[in-house]
Amino acid sequence: MRLVWKYTKRYGWWLCFLGFILLFLWILQLRPAIEEVTTIDHRLAGRKITIDVGHGGLDNGATYGNIREDELNLKIAQALKAELEKRGAIVTLTRDGDYDMTMRDHHYSKQDDMYLRAQKIDAEESVLFVSIHLNASSSSSAWGSQVFYYTNSEQGQLLAKSIHQEMQKVTGTRKSIQSANFYVLRATATTGVLIECGFISHPSERGQLSNSSYHEKLAIAISDGIGNYLESNVPLE
Ligand SMILES: [Zn+2]
Repeated sequence: MRLVWKYTKRYGWWLCFLGFILLFLWILQLRPAIEEVTTIDHRLAGRKITIDVGHGGLDNGATYGNIREDELNLKIAQALKAELEKRGAIVTLTRDGDYDMTMRDHHYSKQDDMYLRAQKIDAEESVLFVSIHLNASSSSSAWGSQVFYYTNSEQGQLLAKSIHQEMQKVTGTRKSIQSANFYVLRATATTGVLIECGFISHPSERGQLSNSSYHEKLAIAISDGIGNYLESNVPLE
């Protein structure tokens, strides 16, 4: 006993010091968890959102050289999913790989793909959906993001306005929101918008749209737009 006391006395301070170091390291490893909790966004927490990833499989969408819209749509959609999930939303994608909704790698049918896409979106019973696309034009001077809503949808228009306002800060677009008769908007009961994130036919916008840090900026802007829309238009039950 005396021996133990003697050693405790001699090494006590060292043990104390070691204890503090261990405590410090333990707090350090807790930090990511703490940060994760503080990024929860009350506007989005627990909300179910569907991201429709435009094109896929035999349908590449707009192309420019070896740059393919379907590939970039998926990257942007994945960045958006990660951002929304970080904020507490529950997110589903219409596709998470290079395929279309028919899952066939032959006889592509736009009609079949679009029909199944609309069915899938409504089956999720999400509070809203966004369809991610990229634009292209024969004129290389065309540029800018644009958000489309279904002509007869009041909620769609409010969602489009809200997303457009946030995206404008990132893309600098001079375009306005626009009503459209796109199948994916017309054939779905879920409130939704179609987002053209920019033109891959425009030299500098193409550079941005191929860049993963730009995808993250778009994801943050779209998430903010969705959050603002939900907060003012779809109260939590
Ligand atoms: Zn497209």
